[in-house]
Parts: sequence; structure tokens; C-alpha cells
Amino acid sequence: MQLYNDTSLDADTFFEQTAELSYQFYVTDSEGNGTFYGAPFRDQTLSSKAIEKVLGGTTYHGMANYPGQTFVTGFFSNELTNSIGVPVEINGEKHALFMRPNIEQQFNEIHILLAVLLVFTILLSMVLVLFSTRYIVKPIKDLTGATEKIAGGEYSIELKQNRKDEIGILARSFTSMSRQLEQVENMRQEFVSNVSHEIRTPLSSIKGYAKLLRSSSPSPEERDNYLQVIESESIRLSKLSRQLLTLAALDKDENITKSEPFTVAPILQNLLQQTRWLWESKGIAINLVASEVTYNGNEELLYQAFENLLTNSIKYTSAGGEISMTLREHQDGLRFTIQDNGNGISLEHQEKVFDRFYKVDTSRSQEKDSSGLGLSIVKKIITLHGGEIIVESELHKGSTFTVMLP
Ligand code: ADP
Repeated sequence: MQLYNDTSLDADTFFEQTAELSYQFYVTDSEGNGTFYGAPFRDQTLSSKAIEKVLGGTTYHGMANYPGQTFVTGFFSNELTNSIGVPVEINGEKHALFMRPNIEQQFNEIHILLAVLLVFTILLSMVLVLFSTRYIVKPIKDLTGATEKIAGGEYSIELKQNRKDEIGILARSFTSMSRQLEQVENMRQEFVSNVSHEIRTPLSSIKGYAKLLRSSSPSPEERDNYLQVIESESIRLSKLSRQLLTLAALDKDENITKSEPFTVAPILQNLLQQTRWLWESKGIAINLVASEVTYNGNEELLYQAFENLLTNSIKYTSAGGEISMTLREHQDGLRFTIQDNGNGISLEHQEKVFDRFYKVDTSRSQEKDSSGLGLSIVKKIITLHGGEIIVESELHKGSTFTVMLP
């Protein structure tokens, strides 16, 4: 009422304008001449007693006393009884003013606000979806595409790796995995082509000589020569298949299944006996110095490793040469060395001799009996025992292979 008293507007204009601010008014005098301002009341009944009270100077609290319902309070009911009545003086005459906020109109305004908020939320969600699609879904799609490529045998994949989060880490791991797979695939292909190459040569020899035997009528001497070639090539083939099987078994079984303590010296002596015909026929002298040490490992595999090293030394040492083998216990374990004064290996080849199928000089006659697998088998066996093998050699002077077993 303070507002009305302060304004210079006439009562009608004042109430009309104030009603526009979402209010409903009912102004009445003592004779019952009443006027409504703002949106109409749904129910305009009001007891004359209430009007009289207000005219008498008491405030009417219709809103506070209006009976509420379970979910909706009386506040929302658009009835004249649900209002507040105050006495007001207009043009010096007593009037009763009943008013209540126009909730519907106010709600409409809230609706608009809610609608704006809703539109804003939808727009924001769309932006977020677009962002997440670009930022999360796209890299995952790229990864899926890359997996499909790898499954199809294509390993050259390019993924964006500059992100620092988990997706970046995944992309980096994936790229490194694909590089490794590519390497494995290349190695596999190389292995297959090496195997086929190693098989093809003896097979074509066998085929050729068998054909000669059948088609020509060779002299007994020629016949013997042909049969000798066929025999040696068959031996070579069976040796190759044995070596391949050994390598496959060693690759498959990373744990040495049979690990037992055994004395090493007797197996070296045994090895010398087994190969006696080989080195004696070449006039090679072998010297063995072995301490009586016990080692916990796979005896069978280590015998094979020592055998490969010894047969190599015999193979690559000229007639009349010397080989010396020593076996000693050191602080860090067992040390076996085999030294020969044979061909020797030049520095550039030394690091590669342990690679599968690596032969220093394929044209050399003694390497006809060679597959390039012997030293790779030795290395594998020694590594499986947690040991190490190194070669020191000088061309035309000789080689020393040292095996360290922890
Ligand atoms: P292979 O099964 O043909 O003997 P290896 O893997 O044992 O093949 O040896 C690889 C190559 O290392 C051989 O081709 C040979 O040239 C060289 N090599 C190995 N041992 C010796 C050695 N004691 N003296 C000289 N060269 C050797």
C-alpha cells in the first residue's frame, strides 16, 4: 500500500499497471462497488464478513487459512477467498483491497525459462556428443579399422599417437604391437623361405642322381658315387629336420623341463669318444681339461650344445689342426671354452653366426654339410639355462667359443 500512497497515479491506473506485473486485485468500497484488475479469479465469491473486517482495518489472511490438498497447496487456487485483504484509502474513502499473485502467468514465465534451459541443454548435449564422437569414438573406430587391417595381414598402420591419455597409450601400444607382428611375420616368411631353400638343394641332388641311375647304365664306380651322394644328401636332410624339430621344441618350451644335477666332465669325454672317427680321420689333435664339477641343468640339451660346438671346430679346422676344450668352475658359474686353430671368422660375421640359417661362406665346400642352424641351437640352449655364449675369432687363425653357465 505504501506504493499506492507514494504514487501520483489514480487508483484505476495504478492497479491496472501493477496487475500487469502478474497480480490479481479486487478493490471494493463499503457499498459493495468492487472492481477486478488483472486476470479474472476463477471463483469470485468472498464473504461480506471478510470485506467488512478489512474495511474495519483488519488484514484478511485468506491464503494462509486456505485448506491445502495432498500435493497442491492452497497457494495455487485461483479464488478470491484465496487472497490477502488489506484496508486501503482511495480518494479519502475506505476500501478493501484483496490481492494474490497471478501464479499461472508467473508459471508461464517459468515455462519460457524452462524451455530456454531445455533448448540450451539439448544444444549443449549435441555439442558434447559431437565432441565425444570426435575425441573418443573416432580413435576407437580407427583402432577397430587397424585391427581389421592386421587381421587381413596388413601391418603398416598409422594411428595418431600424440594424445597423452589412455587412448593415446592404447594407440602407441597398438602401433608397437603391429610393428612387432610385422617383424614376426617377416621372420616367419624368411624362416619358411630358408627352410625351403635348404630342403630344395639336397632334394634336387637326390632327384638328379636317382634319375641318372635309372636312365644311364653307369659303371659300378659311377653307381657307387651316385649312391654316395644320395646317401649323404639324405643324411643332410634328416639332420636338417632333426635340427628344425629341436629348434621348434626349444622355442615352444621356454622352461627346461628336465633340470637335474650332473657331472659335466664325463659327457665331454663321452662326446670325444663319439666323434673320434671324425677328428681322427682329419688328423686333428684334441686336448680336454675338465674339472670335476656338477651342474644343475638339462644334460641332454647341454650335450647337444657341446656337440654342435665341437663338430663345428672339427669341420672348420684343417687337417692336422688342434682343438682344446676346457671346463672350469668360476665365481659366476661354469665356464666352458673350445678353441681351434681353424678358419676363424671375420669380425663382421661374428655377431651373426648365432642367427638361424646364417652361414659365413655358402660357397665353401665344407659348408655343404652345413645348415646354419647349429650355433643358433647352441645359443638357444645356453640362453634357456640363463647362460651366455661369446665368440672371439681371427680369420685364418682360429676361433674360441666361451660358454658361461650360471
Ligand atoms: P652349421 O649348422 O652349418 O654348422 P652353425 O650355425 O653351427 O652352422 O655355424 C654358422 C657359421 O659359423 C658357419 O657357417 C661357419 O661359417 C661359422 N662357424 C661356426 N663355428 C666355426 C668355427 N669353429 N670356426 C670357423 N667358423 C665357424
